[in-house]
Amino acid sequence: MSEFHIAVVAGDGIGPEVTEQAIAVLNKVGELFHHAFHFNKVLAGGCAIDATGKCLPEETLEECKKADSVLLGAVGGPKWDNVAGDQRPERALLGLREKLGLYANLRPAIIHKALADACPLKPEITGDSLDILIVRELTGGIYFGEKGYREGKYGQEAFDIEAYSEMEVKRIAKTAFEVAMQRNKKVTSVDKANVLESSRFWRKTVIEVAKEYPEVELTHMYVDNAAMQLIRNPKQFDVIVTSNIFGDILSDEASMITGSIGLLPSASLGQTGAGMYEPIHGSAPDIAGQDIANPVAAILSTAMMLKYSFKLDKEADAIEKAVTSVLEAGYRTPDIMSEGMKEVGTKEMGNLILHFLS
Ligand code: NAD
Repeated sequence: MSEFHIAVVAGDGIGPEVTEQAIAVLNKVGELFHHAFHFNKVLAGGCAIDATGKCLPEETLEECKKADSVLLGAVGGPKWDNVAGDQRPERALLGLREKLGLYANLRPAIIHKALADACPLKPEITGDSLDILIVRELTGGIYFGEKGYREGKYGQEAFDIEAYSEMEVKRIAKTAFEVAMQRNKKVTSVDKANVLESSRFWRKTVIEVAKEYPEVELTHMYVDNAAMQLIRNPKQFDVIVTSNIFGDILSDEASMITGSIGLLPSASLGQTGAGMYEPIHGSAPDIAGQDIANPVAAILSTAMMLKYSFKLDKEADAIEKAVTSVLEAGYRTPDIMSEGMKEVGTKEMGNLILHFLS
């Protein structure tokens, strides 16, 4: 029997409700496939501020570092809106990413056949399903480059510098090629190499890394074209790898194509194999504590954990299939409810997924 230690940062708002369902699913996977998942619940975000005065207590960081992976719900809420900038609940996420060395953010954009109607694009564009994975560099580029104010040609000006080292591009490209090997073996590297020197360097370095993955088909696309192609013909993409700023924008665009924020998981990975897995949505304070939040994004985050950190592909597929079966059977939480479907709450949705898990 294999054992895995998971640090659980349930956080605020709907975070605890959706992670509870995700934990139940992992426990069931453990029973079915003979693995032991051990959960260590730790505080971060607003609840940590209330309990300790800090959004990311040292103890939480230490427990997350020791764990085989981290499962995160969501942090933040109006109660902590007036807390000083460096102690805001959301700072806990940046702290965790930085201290755990998580430089790769993986965001799938998936349209489930049963929810094809929620996609804002015409059916002939997406067909009845879509499955894209965006690999975004998370700890470098313009968001972390030199910044400041200076005297320019027209008076005072502000600047932010986009810079990428060979090491940073190589490691994110490697992540993209590795995950592409577990999928359809196609990588599109998105840059702005017609204008930016940093993008030309990005492209050259990605081409170097590609030589280690002869089975993977590599193409390049300018970011403006990629933004259009995601709307015009999203099915051409499998894995998209791109810089921090381009990935920030393109992953939001891609998630909108799928039509529901409550369904999309994400992963942040580093060098060690351990990662942090979380739904893309926030703490949804408007619906917290009402048993109506959609737990699917949190549950699918556990599938990503099994696949990318623990290499348990069969088990990950079982979770994804159970979610698909529940949606195909017509069960919907209020956020994805449509006429003729059966409305269920957070707990019932979780129980149905457990029921279909085999
Ligand atoms: P949000 O994602 O929390 O909510 C946006 C809308 O989507 C709301 O109407 C909400 O009810 C709905 N929604 C979100 N998740 C849902 C789910 N699982 N099921 C059903 N409906 C769902 O974004 P927001 O309102 O901009 O932010 C609320 C708080 O969350 C803020 O404090 C923000 O800083 C924080 N936040 C945290 C994270 C994170 O922890 N990763 C991410 C984004 C926002």
